[in-house]
Amino acid sequence: MPGVFTGFRTLDVRFPTSADLDGSDAMNVDPDYSAAYLILETDAGDGLEGHGFVFTIGRGNDVQRAAIEALRQYVLGRDVDAVLADLGGMWRELVYDAQLRWLGPEKGVMHMAIGAVINALWDLRAKRAGLPLWQLLSELSPQEIVDLVDFRYLTDALTPDEALALLTAVEPGRAERAATLRANGYPAYTTSPGWLGYSDEKLSRLAKEAVAEGFTQIKLKVGADIDDDVRRFALARSVVGDGVRIAVDANQRWDVDEAVAAIERLREFDPWWVEEPTAPDDVLAHAAIRRRAAPVRIATGEHAHSRVLVKQFLQAEAIDVLQLDSTRVAGVNENIAILLLAAKFGIPVCPHAGGVGLCELVQHLAMFDFVAVSGTTTDRNIEYVDHLHEHFLDPVRIVRGAYAAPAAPGFSAQIRSETLVRFGFPDGEAWKEAQ
Ligand SMILES: [Mg+2]
Repeated sequence: MPGVFTGFRTLDVRFPTSADLDGSDAMNVDPDYSAAYLILETDAGDGLEGHGFVFTIGRGNDVQRAAIEALRQYVLGRDVDAVLADLGGMWRELVYDAQLRWLGPEKGVMHMAIGAVINALWDLRAKRAGLPLWQLLSELSPQEIVDLVDFRYLTDALTPDEALALLTAVEPGRAERAATLRANGYPAYTTSPGWLGYSDEKLSRLAKEAVAEGFTQIKLKVGADIDDDVRRFALARSVVGDGVRIAVDANQRWDVDEAVAAIERLREFDPWWVEEPTAPDDVLAHAAIRRRAAPVRIATGEHAHSRVLVKQFLQAEAIDVLQLDSTRVAGVNENIAILLLAAKFGIPVCPHAGGVGLCELVQHLAMFDFVAVSGTTTDRNIEYVDHLHEHFLDPVRIVRGAYAAPAAPGFSAQIRSETLVRFGFPDGEAWKEAQ
């Protein structure tokens, strides 16, 4: 299918979620879940588009969309086959634009914008191949996977040869694990009961429902007021019993001493992990909290801005659980680097999700990890939040507490066209009604 890229359209899509306090936590008190959205079009005549986006929680969408726009010259007019055949090369081109790289480097708004472009390209490549992305990635050779990753700054922790050896070692079991995945899905946990703005009644009702639906882990938001946290945790524990894991998430609220003191209070309810206890790029603080609060597990990663920061968390033995995010870093390629690092250090990846479309995207990365990288789902699960899935063409399907493996071609990234219009900001009907 020869062709060139003819369209690079960005859209501002926002959902007025702050009205119901869905998604509210100790740091993010009034989120309007949003997507700075990208559609790539070609003249190949196959009708296929690449869709990608960055998740933001409202006004940041203005900035994020402008950052994606800054990359249009890298895509428009380029040969589609050539670009899609070398997405490792495309990643390097985008990341090493010297003038734009100055804004990071390799972190923040510009880096996330690169993620939107890279993810949209992967969506298109998977659609053209007629495969869901997890399967496309899982069928690449170990060498092809290694070639997607930029190992600059990583080789003190992971070399290309080590990555190749790691991928080759699990290659023989790929077909069997893919079959297991299709049969059983990938384990999930739910954060839906635990938003900080919810009443005790709503918390306890949703926690009960989660267990009835087959979830074996839930998560509660904490960090605003420790007495409230203790009350809500005790309530949740009494509702779900001892057999269900309860993780807690402080969303960066504490300093080190505060975190240690809070964990001391919460310990009796057996937290499965304590998430984002402090500043998300403070490696040494996480390491100190982990040491002082042991054996309570420490989790972070949804705000880890690059593979380099993840490398440090792992080298410093600062975390027990790594929570990569599908739109925080520069797309699929960098998340493959992160999955390889986690596999090397033997740290389980339990991806961050929720928001708009983060569940839809990140399931592909976790499933690829199971089939072709770590080779296991032990103590691994993907976050699930029951919001906004109805707006996606190929929404996630949760069956008895697990993500069913997507079968449709692509990255499950595509939002319905009527939603893109209705929730377009500021002119969509949904926003006119909200005023
Ligand atoms: Mg979190």
